Parts: sequence; C-alpha cells; structure tokens
Amino acid sequence: MKLIFLGPPGAGKGTLAAKAVEFLKVPHISTGAIFRSAMAAKSPLGLKVKAIIDAGKLVDDETTIELVKDRLAQADAQGGYILDGFPRTIPQAEALAAFSPVDRAVNFDLPDSAVRERLGGRRVCRQCGTNYHQVFNRSRREGICDSCGGEVYIRDDDQPGAIQKRLEVYREQTAPLTAFYRNLGILVEVDASPDVEQVVENFKSAMEKLV
Ligand code: ADP
Ligand code: ADP
Ligand code: ZN
Repeated sequence: MKLIFLGPPGAGKGTLAAKAVEFLKVPHISTGAIFRSAMAAKSPLGLKVKAIIDAGKLVDDETTIELVKDRLAQADAQGGYILDGFPRTIPQAEALAAFSPVDRAVNFDLPDSAVRERLGGRRVCRQCGTNYHQVFNRSRREGICDSCGGEVYIRDDDQPGAIQKRLEVYREQTAPLTAFYRNLGILVEVDASPDVEQVVENFKSAMEKLV
C-alpha cells in the first residue's frame, strides 16, 4: 500500500504515521524528518535548507523531488510506504505520479485554531524524532524522550512567526492537492481533531470503506 498523508502542519500526520506503520507494515518516510537529520548533521543539504525551513517556507521542488525519488528507490520502500509531508505542491504531486503513483491520499483535516495549539506545544526528540506535546502528550521526564532518552526540544520552525508563514504556505500551495487527489478518485478524508487513539480509529475506518 502506497499512501501519502496530507493536511496542515501540526495536523498529527507524523504522530499517526508512527502508529500506522505498526499495522500497515510499511516504512514511514517524512521529508521534514529527512531535512531535520540533514540539518543536524550539517550536511550540504542541511546547510542549504536550514534558513528556508526555519522561516516556514518550502524547500524548492527540484531538491525535494530528487530526495524523495532516491528514498523511494531504496529496498524497504518497494512493498509500499507512508509518505508524510510530500507532496506539498502541484509540481511535486505531478512528479510523484510519474515515478511512483500512490494508492491513496489521506487528508487529515484540522481547523487553524487547533493547528496553532498543536504546533505551539509541540516538542520533538532530537535523536529519534518522537513527537510530544506539552499539554496533550508529555514525555514522562521533562525534556527527555521516553523511547530513547534523547533531548526533547522545540523545533526552530515552531516559533509563532514561522507557524503563521507555514499556514499561509499550506493554504496557497498544499491545500490545492486535495482537489488534485479527489479528481484522481483516491482521496480519503479523516477528521484529525479528536485525540490520537480516536484519529487512529477514524483513519482505519476511512481506509476500510475503500477496500
Ligand atoms: P510539519 O510536520 O510541521 O508539517 P514537516 O516536518 O513535514 O512539518 O516539514 C518541516 C519543513 O520541511 C517544512 O515547513 C518545509 O520547510 C520543509 N519540507 C518538508 N517537506 C517538504 C516538501 N515536500 N516540499 C518542500 N519543503 C518541505
Ligand atoms: P504533523 O506531522 O502533521 O506536523 P505532528 O504529528 O507533529 O503533526 O503533531 C503536531 C503536535 O500535535 C505534536 O506535538 C503532537 O504530539 C500533537 N498531536 C498529534 N496528534 C494529536 C491529537 N490527535 N490530539 C492532540 N495532540 C496531537
Ligand atoms: Zn527519542
């Protein structure tokens, strides 16, 4: 099963993907996570994208498409994948349709007020990428990851100015993708506003309706 996860920043795509890999048995591929490890390693890619990402803007299509194409060519992605955070523009969606057409596009729907609340309280493990939230999903020990003991930090792009910019970019460039996939007849809508366990259930039942 080849899936993409769409929806505004902070909708819970990464959180849901981490749960869904357990029952779908496919890898979770997050372009944001790939960029964050490149930035942490200060690789040429990381150095190139840091200022763009911290400002809440999108990395250019050419760089991002190339990155995803290489990643999807790896052995573990041959039986399917959850692609989280890609595509984010129509050119990216068109490129993906050419090199790896997906079975379903799952859109996680969440109002802006909830997006701000989720992004404003998001915390992330620097080492393994596990997501936390200072209100909805705290780590057991403040600042320390439950899974790996790594440092839990606030992403540079989760500052208020960058959050506003990311919402604008989402509206302008990414929201049109729902129509793109609806037209292909493969769009699945999921209400992302309840708690995580309920969103998992919403996701499962939305997927079942289609098989
Ligand atoms: P969020 O989970 O908050 O939506 P991501 O972790 O998916 O954010 O992405 C973080 C940042 O990485 C984005 O704001 C953007 O700058 C960059 N990025 C991730 N995926 C893409 C993409 N498909 N195209 C362009 N930029 C991307
Ligand atoms: P995305 O990948 O769409 O940007 P994340 O999975 O990183 O979103 O989730 C954003 C923040 O919201 C994180 O702090 C996460 O712990 C929290 N979160 C995710 N899903 C829910 C939910 N259903 N209810 C409350 N908080 C959530
Ligand atoms: Zn961790």
